[in-house]
Amino acid sequence: MRAALREIHTDVLILGSGGAGLFAALHAHQTAPELSITVAVKGLLGKCGCTRMVQGGYNVALAPGDSVERHFMDTIEGGKWLPDQELAWKLVTLAVERIRELENELGCFFDRNADGTIHQKAFAGQTFDRTVHKGDLTGIEIINRLAEQVWARRVARLEEHRAVELVKTRSGDALAGVLMIDMRSGEYLLVRAKAVLLATGGGPTMYRYHTPSGDKSCDGLAMALRAGLALRDMEMVQFHPTGLLAGPHTRMTGTVLEEGLRGAGGYLLNGARERFMQSYDAKGERATRDIVSRAMYAEMRAGRVTPNGGLYIAMAHLGAERVRRDFKGMVERCADCGFDLAGGLVEVVPTAHYMMGGVEFGADCTTALPGLFVAGEDSGGVHGANRLGGNGVANSTVYGGVAGDAMAAWVRSEGALRTPDPASLEAAIARCEQPFARRSERHGALEDLRETLSGVMWDRVGIIRDAAGLAQAAQTLAALDAALDGCALADRNRAFNLSWHDWMNMKSLTQVSRVIAAAAGAREDSRGAHFREDFPEAGALERSTYTSARLRDGAIDITTKPVAFTRVRPGETLLRDAA
Ligand SMILES: Cc1cc2nc3c(=O)[nH]c(=O)nc-3n(C[C@H](O)[C@H](O)[C@H](O)COP(=O)(O)OP(=O)(O)OC[C@H]3O[C@@H](n4cnc5c(N)ncnc54)[C@H](O)[C@@H]3O)c2cc1C
Repeated sequence: MRAALREIHTDVLILGSGGAGLFAALHAHQTAPELSITVAVKGLLGKCGCTRMVQGGYNVALAPGDSVERHFMDTIEGGKWLPDQELAWKLVTLAVERIRELENELGCFFDRNADGTIHQKAFAGQTFDRTVHKGDLTGIEIINRLAEQVWARRVARLEEHRAVELVKTRSGDALAGVLMIDMRSGEYLLVRAKAVLLATGGGPTMYRYHTPSGDKSCDGLAMALRAGLALRDMEMVQFHPTGLLAGPHTRMTGTVLEEGLRGAGGYLLNGARERFMQSYDAKGERATRDIVSRAMYAEMRAGRVTPNGGLYIAMAHLGAERVRRDFKGMVERCADCGFDLAGGLVEVVPTAHYMMGGVEFGADCTTALPGLFVAGEDSGGVHGANRLGGNGVANSTVYGGVAGDAMAAWVRSEGALRTPDPASLEAAIARCEQPFARRSERHGALEDLRETLSGVMWDRVGIIRDAAGLAQAAQTLAALDAALDGCALADRNRAFNLSWHDWMNMKSLTQVSRVIAAAAGAREDSRGAHFREDFPEAGALERSTYTSARLRDGAIDITTKPVAFTRVRPGETLLRDAA
């Protein structure tokens, strides 16, 4: 039986406890300590999301010889001239501040050089070694320190609480609160808030091989879409070249082996144990993720594969001792799956890793819906067509902090508790209740639908796309959405009903997959992560456009908008020595 709706109030509500959510909480508290702040999260605070999973590290221009201009140019060129330049500029400049904050105020220890300076390592696609790290498991250091600092402050926590709908006012012109489900009891909870941060971290878990944590299912993006917000760059899904491939029956398959392996000089080999990257790109294994993933996919399509259908990474030529010392975490992860990274070969496959696309937002993290802010992987526009390895956690921590400051200022100046529209609230609850309204669950139905989703996204909306495949995918995804609406759940107990949450995960993933397919169909060129076999050229950079997706009368509407070159135009550079 459905329980009654409870209601609570807070000044600031933060959805998600990754780098973006936790930094927002700390900054909001620092800026306005009198405010009540609540972090609501699908998992346990500090234990879920992808910031904790960050391996390689954090890009920031610190060392002599590097500069924020160089970091900016790498970001713009890596993003194939599609990033919003003001957002990218803020990323690279505030990263310098944020890394000091992480070290000096929050207590993170990063690896050091012998002279005491911070060690920065090479990451693909960058012209300078600027990735700050803690061994090869940097995220655990960052998220543990952040979580400790949040625990030590007056910040309320709603753990294992899932946000399911952004609830607007009756007029629809502002956000009033968020409908949540307390996953432990299955009760509905309305959290009314003056300012809300969407920081649920995107997460392309709809692909057959993927890296993000299982709690991420694009809920935030689906909620934003239903609330009428525009999502930009949704066709841009980044595949990480080296996902572990340990067979279909382990969740380790798809998890990432960090970029530093290729940065350090690791080789990729095909099933015939031959290096192949040089024949695709002069930079070989150190080319950007999109190029390497595409080359790997081409080798796989040509049938030059390993026993599990992928390729190999080899590190032994660098010296087993060195590999064990520099990549301890990776060596252990591979050993858990029966592979010897230091001395042998490890099977790998490109794996869906990161969504460059997300909610359109301003540099102060505001959105088109007053009261709603966005930061981290839920936001779009910072990275354009490709995210540089190391720019993801920089993005979430930089913009999380910005959002915290902005929400505190907003609540002080114009924040008020607004009244939610009762009809929207009821409709949102009815949407969640849908699978309980039907009888006769077919055993395994949800699993079959998941297979369909991950298969069609991998085969048709993945690394290499074309018009026919995308059109077919759009049809399959529409049918899948309808099939999900027809799903029934036999277990009607709402408390920790994982099948129910799985169904909601699938609904969010399918809705967002439909947007990815539509945006990919609309972009008739190839940029960064988006490659169209039928339109392999990049098109004129000076006339670059980005896609913007919205729901209009239930249908996905894609428009294209020109990229504003506010700081540098294609063909120009901000680097004085190169000009
Ligand atoms: C394996 C791996 C390695 C990576 N390595 C690097 C790296 O070396 N360098 C780099 O820069 N980037 C890396 N990234 C990317 C980086 O992790 C992300 O860019 C960044 O951390 C995202 O931060 P976030 O705060 O936006 O989201 P996350 O840290 O993912 O947090 C999202 C939060 O939202 C919560 N949530 C989700 N849905 C809901 C809901 N409906 N209701 C409530 N809460 C919800 C989740 O539980 C989680 O707490 C890596 C990613 C992965 C997966």
